[in-house]
Amino acid sequence: MASGITKRWIFNILSVIIFIIICVVLCLSYMIGTYYYNSVQQSISARFTELNNVFTDESADTTTDFLSTAQKYIEDFPEKEQMELQSVNSIGRVTLTSTGFLPDKREKMPDLDEALKSGTGEAITTGQLSTGEDIMAGTRIFTSQDGTVIGAIRFVTSMSDINITITLLILLISLVGIAIIVAVVISGRFFIRSIVGPIKDMSKTAQRIAQGDFDAPSLNKKYDDEIGDLCDSINYMAHELKQTEQLKNDFISRVSHELRTPLTAIKGWSETMLLTGDDIDRGTFKKGMNIILKESGRLTSIVEELLDFSRLQSGRLKLITEKTDLVAELDEAVYILKERSIQEKKHLMFDTPIEPFPPVMGDKNRLRQVFMNIIDNALKYTPEGGDVTVQILNEVSNITVLISDTGCGIAPEDLPKVKEKFYKANQNVGGSGIGLAVADEIVQMHGGTLDIESGIGVGTTVKIQIPVYNEAEVVTMEESINKGEN
Ligand code: ADP
Repeated sequence: MASGITKRWIFNILSVIIFIIICVVLCLSYMIGTYYYNSVQQSISARFTELNNVFTDESADTTTDFLSTAQKYIEDFPEKEQMELQSVNSIGRVTLTSTGFLPDKREKMPDLDEALKSGTGEAITTGQLSTGEDIMAGTRIFTSQDGTVIGAIRFVTSMSDINITITLLILLISLVGIAIIVAVVISGRFFIRSIVGPIKDMSKTAQRIAQGDFDAPSLNKKYDDEIGDLCDSINYMAHELKQTEQLKNDFISRVSHELRTPLTAIKGWSETMLLTGDDIDRGTFKKGMNIILKESGRLTSIVEELLDFSRLQSGRLKLITEKTDLVAELDEAVYILKERSIQEKKHLMFDTPIEPFPPVMGDKNRLRQVFMNIIDNALKYTPEGGDVTVQILNEVSNITVLISDTGCGIAPEDLPKVKEKFYKANQNVGGSGIGLAVADEIVQMHGGTLDIESGIGVGTTVKIQIPVYNEAEVVTMEESINKGEN
């Protein structure tokens, strides 16, 4: 059964082409017919002109003069093969013919009747002989000086051969037209197949992908055109979906693992403390409680990170903005992580600037969360004895925060992807793989940017830029919002 595209092609293109070809064939046929009939008519008209020179006033004034001139003219007529010449007397009887055979008396001569009626004394008509033969005949009437008809000369030419020629030519043109239509149909079918075939394959593959089968065989790119590009896009989409699915599965197992580790510690220590009961010594109790507290904190931060991520995905993460001192928030983040860096024997350095910094419009807690996340990463991916340096710079329209470490660094092929959700370049170190995605989103919500420069073995520098709060701009913005509302 013809597919939708084939049907549309038949109705929209093929029908138009067939219509045009039929019109062209009809026009050409008409033109050929007219051309041949006109040329015969013209040759009879030319003979009429010639008659004026032959039948002068002197040579055709009386019936006798006319008959003898007509006889001579008929005898000398050079084109007897192509045309029959007849001499007609004053009462409309054919008296002499170039063939030597007089026509049947009943034969009609409409050209003679028309010539008698016309003012010029000439007429050319087409018709049929009683034998059925198609003819064209032309009559020129001759009158004496007093106006009485003394005779007429009649040219009769057979149109049978011409009609055969015309029919053959029309047949030839029709055949060419049919050949064009056949060629269009064949090339059209080939063209449509080259579209419909790949589209069907694409549709099947897309359905398999939609059902979660990302291992569906990749589409074969047959043509380097828009269809080929579409095949490439679907193959790429399948590849990316497969990767995302893999990342998501890894993420779920990683997060489960991350949650299980602190839970195991909490459960273990709770059981120990419960079993030991009142016999537990103060030191062990304190150590146990500290671990339970630390691991609960870890659980809370993992759950918080997941919640933030889910809010970001659903667009529910809202900022509570106010004029914020970034130096203070950065200071606080460094302060919170300082103790950990000492424990892990890493140097976390931040020289709090003395001069005041212009405020930014932002959410204090979220910005502090971003700084903590980036410093946490820097510590996490830097080995013992390494340095983590934090800097803040006032760049007039922006405030720039630089967090550099001397850690393992990120490979160039991973660098463009580390800000994507679930992506982890380093599988050996714990973490859900969503920290940078969340941080980047929060910075963007503040109108800022988060860029990463890194090299394997060199270390990593994360650069965060937040625009400085500009009262004039905010006022103008509020005014335009108010105007819009009014
Ligand atoms: P994770 O929870 O794995 O740290 P992130 O989204 O914070 O997830 O980071 C994504 C990936 O980027 C990490 O898995 C790690 O490979 C890489 N990365 C981030 N920060 C650093 C850094 N300071 N040094 C080296 N690699 C880093």
